Amino acid sequence: MSIDIDNCRIIDLSLPIDENMPFEPFPVKASRLGHKSGIHHLNRTLIFNKNFSMKQKVGFLMGYLFKGRKFGLEDFPDNEFISDEQISCSVHTGTHVDSPFHFGTRCMGQRAKSIEELELKHFMGNGVVLDVTSVKPGAFIKTDDIKRSCKTIGYEFNPGDIVLIRTGASKLWGQKEYFFRFPGMSRDATEYIVDHGIKLIGTDALGFDRPYGVMIDEYFKTGDRGNLWPSHFFGREKEYYHIERLNNLDLIPDVRKFVFCGFPIKILNVGAAWMRAVAIV
Ligand SMILES: [Zn+2]
Repeated sequence: MSIDIDNCRIIDLSLPIDENMPFEPFPVKASRLGHKSGIHHLNRTLIFNKNFSMKQKVGFLMGYLFKGRKFGLEDFPDNEFISDEQISCSVHTGTHVDSPFHFGTRCMGQRAKSIEELELKHFMGNGVVLDVTSVKPGAFIKTDDIKRSCKTIGYEFNPGDIVLIRTGASKLWGQKEYFFRFPGMSRDATEYIVDHGIKLIGTDALGFDRPYGVMIDEYFKTGDRGNLWPSHFFGREKEYYHIERLNNLDLIPDVRKFVFCGFPIKILNVGAAWMRAVAIV
């Protein structure tokens, strides 16, 4: 298999992980070692590195204090050292994929898989975008909406396809509304897609299910547990994975002719992981 790199275009379907997002439920924290300030960290590390033996530490300290064994910016080209950044945020920040472990400890009677256990072959394949932008924020995306969208573009599911649900909600990214104005997949619609041999489904909305506020209100009004994360909990019955917070689905020129590619970052024992998702057209 080969890809004609010169004649294909890569469309970025990902949202950034951004410490300046005003409305993240779990704000992103970034601590940055700049090209100049990093030098102090380097000198400290030389002396206080916990992996060094006491003898080595004393040796480095003596060298630092009495023999000028310390770094200054002049030791590096252009008077700049290298940078480092530490980012702290939820694994559900930015474009990411949820694994069965997020849905519960068990899936189909077995121990639910965490991110690093998912087979990578499920994260690259023929993609399709289903337009459900007519479904109102807060409402369920129903099986009929999926069927209608398939019919409009003359598409039939093929096992292994990667199905991307376009709600239009990514247009609100950067605004407060992004967190509560989107429709969510009904359990039946999710099951309908998964039953066609689809393992990976994505949405351009914040969440795969309806907004928290809507689900919680309806649950306390009706007592019906079916209102609470129905698609997430469906993932305990049949194994599938969903991507949340996709972007730019409207930029894919032919919604039936592209290769989707996006791999979860290999973090161990977690229920979700960040993804750089792209469409290759
Ligand atoms: Zn998630």
